[in-house]
Order: sequence, then C-alpha cells, then structure tokens
Amino acid sequence: MLTPTITPWMSDPLIRRRTKIVATLGPASSEPDVIARLINAGVNVFRLNFSHGDHATHGQVYERVRAASTAAGEPVAILADLCGPKIRVGRFEEGSIRLESGSHVVVTTRAVTGVAGLIPSQYVEFAHDVRQGDRVLLDDGLLELRVEAIDGSEVACRVINGGVLKDHKGMNLPGVQVSAPAFTEKDHDDAVFALGLGVDFIALSFVRRALDFDALKGLIADASYTPHVIAKIEKPEALEAIDEILEACDGIMVARGDLGVELPPEIVPIAQRRLIARARAFGKPAIVATQMLESMVFNPRPTRAEVSDISTAVFDGADAIMLSAESASGAHPVAAVEMMDRIARQVEGYLWTEKAFDATAFQHDVSSTSMPLPLHQAIARSLAQLSRDLRVRCIIVLSSSGITAMAVAAGRPAAPVVVVSPDSSACRRANLLWGTVPIQGDGNDLQDPHALARRLAVDLGFASAGHYILAVTGFKSTADETSPTITTLRVF
Ligand code: PEP
Repeated sequence: MLTPTITPWMSDPLIRRRTKIVATLGPASSEPDVIARLINAGVNVFRLNFSHGDHATHGQVYERVRAASTAAGEPVAILADLCGPKIRVGRFEEGSIRLESGSHVVVTTRAVTGVAGLIPSQYVEFAHDVRQGDRVLLDDGLLELRVEAIDGSEVACRVINGGVLKDHKGMNLPGVQVSAPAFTEKDHDDAVFALGLGVDFIALSFVRRALDFDALKGLIADASYTPHVIAKIEKPEALEAIDEILEACDGIMVARGDLGVELPPEIVPIAQRRLIARARAFGKPAIVATQMLESMVFNPRPTRAEVSDISTAVFDGADAIMLSAESASGAHPVAAVEMMDRIARQVEGYLWTEKAFDATAFQHDVSSTSMPLPLHQAIARSLAQLSRDLRVRCIIVLSSSGITAMAVAAGRPAAPVVVVSPDSSACRRANLLWGTVPIQGDGNDLQDPHALARRLAVDLGFASAGHYILAVTGFKSTADETSPTITTLRVF
C-alpha cells in the first residue's frame, strides 16, 4: 500500500541538481546562441563526437563552448569521443537503400558506392572475419542480415529484418572476433587533435581490456596536460574485464546503443546498474548514454518510458546522463536538456526526502568481512554518514587535481560537494561528478582553507551562522602520499 511518505509529487526539487548532464553537440546545436542556451538549461559537459564532423568544425565548436562557458561563469567541460573500431557501411547512390525481409543482399569490402542489393562495408576485414551463419546487425540493430556465403571480398547475406539503410550507419557483428585494432589510425589523429585543443575528457570506444588504453595513454603522456580517460563500455568482453578497465581509466560510459546490440537488450538495464555500482566502488564516475529522450529528436515532449528511463539512471546513482542525437541533430535540443534537468531534479528531491541517495553504496564490495574496504571507499562512506548525522549544509573539497572530489562524490553524500581548485581544468573535470559544485579558487584563497570553506558555504547560499559544514582534503594519486583529512566546521 502507498504511504504518504512516498507520494513523489510532494518532493521538492533540490536547489542544485546532483546528476550531471552531458549533451552531444552537432548541427542542431553548434551555433553560439544555442550553446549558450544549452549551458543555461543545465549542461555540465559537452561531447564532441568524432564519429561525425571534421577537425575544422570540432575546433570551431570547441572555441565556442569555451567562450560561452566563460561568459556564463560555468566550468563546462568538453569530452572528445573517439569513434574506435566502429564498423560502418559506406555511402549509397541515393543516400539510402531499402532492404526487404527475406531478400538477398551482398556486402562488399570493395570501395564502391552502394545501390539496391549492394552494401559497401568501410571495414576492409569484414569478409575475412565473418563466417557462414553469423549475424550482421545494422543501424543499432534495427536491421539484421545473416551471412550465407563468402567469396573473396563479397559476402552474400539474407535479410532477416528489413527496413531503410542510410549512409554510414553502424554495423555490429555480435560474437564475431573482430580483428580491427582497438585504437585506429583515425583515433590517433583525432586524439592528437583533441589534445591540441585541450579537451577535458577523451572517451575511447569499444574498449575490451585495460591494454586498449595504452596507445591513448602514450599520447597523453606526451601532452602538456592530463585529460581524463573515459572507457565506453559497449562490448561483452568489457563487462567481463570491468575491474581492470576501471583501474586503468578515470570513468566509464555505459554506451547502451552498441551494448544493446552486442548483448540481448534485456541485459542492458542490469549491466547499467552493476556498472554504475562498480564505478562507484572504484571512486570513478559513470555516464549513462543513448536513447534517453530519443523521441525528442522529433517531438517536443518525451514518451513516458523515456522519462522512466532517465529516472532509473538517477535512481541507479549515475554521475551523469547523456543526450546524443537529441541535442546533436534533433529538433528540440534545449527542450531535451530542460526535460532531463526536470526529471533528474524530481527524482533527486524524492531520494533526498527518503534519505536514499546512498542506497547502493559499495554493495558489491563488502563481500568479505576479513578484507578492509579500500581507503577511498571507507572515507567516502564515513563522509556521507557524517553529512547526514550532522545535517551539514555542504562539503567543501579542497582538491588541486580533483582526486579528492572523485572519492567524496562516489559516497553520494546528502550535502552538495563544493570542489575548490586553483586549476581550471580540474574544476571542469569535477563537473562530471555527482553532486559537485566546482569553483576555481586562487592561490591566496587557499592560504586559509577553513575561512574559505565558511565563506563559500555562505556565499553559495548553502549555509548560515550555526550550520555545520565539512572540509575535506588529502587524496593524492599515490597511496603513499594520500592522507585524507576531514574537518568539521561551524559557520559563524
Ligand atoms: C553508444 O553506443 O551508446 C554510444 C554512446 O556510442 P556512439 O554514440 O559513439 O555510437
């Protein structure tokens, strides 16, 4: 029976949204005024998708985002998403072809333009990698072929599920050992370009194991700064190797588009929930991506199922939720962000009143009573508890690199987490983390951290005289240097 305490329409949205919003930029959203409106609507991180567009366009959009975020006074981050060994079909003479279910079609690796009955594959090893009976999924699995015969560069297929196939749509080969390298030549060129721009995050697609990061990390080691690396989890192998992947990266993206093609779609919600919990256990952020408001590509309002999907990601404790085509090429990019913002706030208000922000905290890790929790988990849990017990109004994290902010956010404390760093890129990176309010402080501010913490708590409207706040510092990149310190401060 429903009780009055769970009537969700009574929950007040919190002043600050805890779950962050990532929006992909594209033709619908690249003009300066649209970027400014998207920031105003609540975007925390913009994604440049290197599966589309050229360097000149990405460079121009990058500059526009930096200018708009400076004008808005918001530390909006930029994520460059490398396309990885994504297999795609080529171009068609008419822009698309129709595939009739039950008919036959040939997929070729020759460099030709497609016509009815002939699909060019941009992946040259296609005919080498597939076997008779393999499934070929097109356009995120909407269309399906079955391999019947292979003859040199030509692969004869039967159309199992037909439909319209447009230029450059994706191709997935579930269960096939794809021989393409994890980091392609295009990824190399795009990564060098993105590092030259100064992006805050670089996402690697189709990661299968920790080794897949080596080439990108080599480029980052030679760069003048250190962006964070996000692993896109979209292969079944990545689910198996998630711990070594989380060890090697700075955060993950649950890339449900490809994951739901590589795996049965009914597995995806469970994978999503488990991946978010696992990322939190490592003190690293998790982004939930793809089709969150898909119908808003065309319509001004979402379906009820989409609203529910966003709510689920927020209930699951995702750090961030992402828009793809909705903001990149849809008819209502700003309305999509506003809608995401409203849904997240509503669920968070409900979770807050139910004191349920940390419901899934580290649940997979307390498996053995003889093993201590990792330090970052123990501190994050204690902080979340302390923030509730003392009803603290905010947690001030003094963090030059942002590592302390990652540990604190993973505990999902009730109070907002104000991250103060003198480093503008650390502030932008912190903007992906659940519950954070990043503020760039100058060196002088940091001379008296307790005075700074009290002043910020008041200036930001979180606390007034008599309230408790917490100040946290001390996580470093190595265990030997790490000495976390929590200080309880009363505002006066
Ligand atoms: C996905 O597959 O869900 C995803 C985010 O990747 P992309 O949009 O690059 O295909």
